[in-house]
Amino acid sequence: MTRTSVTSESFGPQVNSYLIDNPLWPFCKGCGHTMVIRRINEALVSLQLQPQDVALVTDIGCIGMSDGLFRAIHTVHTTHGRSTAFATGIALADSVLAEKKLKTIVLIGDGGAMIGLQHLVHAAMLNVDVTVLICNNFVYGMTGGQGSGFTPECFVTATTPDGNIVPPVDICEMLMSSNAAFVGRTIATDKELTSLIAQAIAYPGFAALEILELCTEFAVPQNELTGTKLLAVAEQNGWSMGLLRAGTDRPPFGKKYLDNILTKPTQSPRKSAVRKNLPKPMGIDGPVSLMIVGSAGEKVQSAAATLCQAAVASGLRVTQKNDNPVTQGSGFSLSEVWLSPEEIGFTGIDRPDYLVILSTDGYRELVERGVLLRLGNTTKVYIDESIDVPVEHGKVKRHAYRKLFGPTLAAVGALVHIARLNRLVDSEALDGAVQPRLKNDAPKFNQAMEQLMGKS
Ligand code: SF4
Repeated sequence: MTRTSVTSESFGPQVNSYLIDNPLWPFCKGCGHTMVIRRINEALVSLQLQPQDVALVTDIGCIGMSDGLFRAIHTVHTTHGRSTAFATGIALADSVLAEKKLKTIVLIGDGGAMIGLQHLVHAAMLNVDVTVLICNNFVYGMTGGQGSGFTPECFVTATTPDGNIVPPVDICEMLMSSNAAFVGRTIATDKELTSLIAQAIAYPGFAALEILELCTEFAVPQNELTGTKLLAVAEQNGWSMGLLRAGTDRPPFGKKYLDNILTKPTQSPRKSAVRKNLPKPMGIDGPVSLMIVGSAGEKVQSAAATLCQAAVASGLRVTQKNDNPVTQGSGFSLSEVWLSPEEIGFTGIDRPDYLVILSTDGYRELVERGVLLRLGNTTKVYIDESIDVPVEHGKVKRHAYRKLFGPTLAAVGALVHIARLNRLVDSEALDGAVQPRLKNDAPKFNQAMEQLMGKS
């Protein structure tokens, strides 16, 4: 998620525009996307949302270039078709973990909507508080005007040069049959578009607006299309226009989850942490960064996730970033973790406070990235004793993690060891996160841990 350095104070009490000054519109002349962006801005102005309470999630395609036109609101540019899934996660996190203030808006084209159909259907079924604006110009504009699942019959596109012979999907019908509570369809030049977008954003649940518009580069010249002909296209396809469903009193998923799941007794440390609503932080008193590397298949990333669970249950803020080769099952596996009693503004780690090296695969990756050269003298480096390599910077300690815990528990063993030694998290929360995942290995693991702590 990116945000400019402009703060809400920069806007004063009245927000007159959420767009950057004098934007250089990235779209072709006459493209409907420009109109849609202007109407979104007007809708936001009419709602007077604080910029920090708006998250715009964009998809791939020409419409995905929109996020650079806005200032100060949160913007997330995502992979093709997945914008609704990202937005669903953002909205759920906000409704369950935070103050339920965020308004999340998805901008997606017809290509992305077809690729990500399941995400749209699922968001509608959940009734997450997300507004999806589907900018349907009937083609994949950015890649050369190929037909999409929304292309009307007889339409000439790069992939249907003799005219499309497959009937298009009616996305509004599909979403309504998935229990979407707020659904509408209109054209980009509709005088009511600003009001429709504002109503959709204000609705406290899933809202979708399909906006028929022109791709002047491809759809227009191939099909002699004009703005006024868009309504005829809709009629030919039997698409109903206007506000088709104006909201129901079905509760949004976040509220149902809070009411029905989080109020039930649980053994889960993650749910306990959420339920406790961030207890007073225990453990560290300032931000701490930790990097752990090992080999694929040895549960490095899930061990880091377990530490993060313990940290959340300790009332700390947490970020975790994973990396591994695309092969998944071979090579290195890496996790970068920030733990902090305060909000974490930046997730990158240049020089970790703690570095854990569990295998030569992991060591090679650190060399490749130049991490070992950047280590400060205060970095605590915990390296498995089986890795016979020099580490010239930092305070280096060698331990028999792999020998004591075995390859698949070495990562969680190392992290529990380090967390206990350095009091990174609350010890009860650590046990609560670690013990359930050990199952039958618990006695062996606990014995090995006692042995290790005795030596430390
Ligand atoms: S290619 Fe089509 S959709 Fe893309 S900017 Fe140009 S007119 Fe708009």
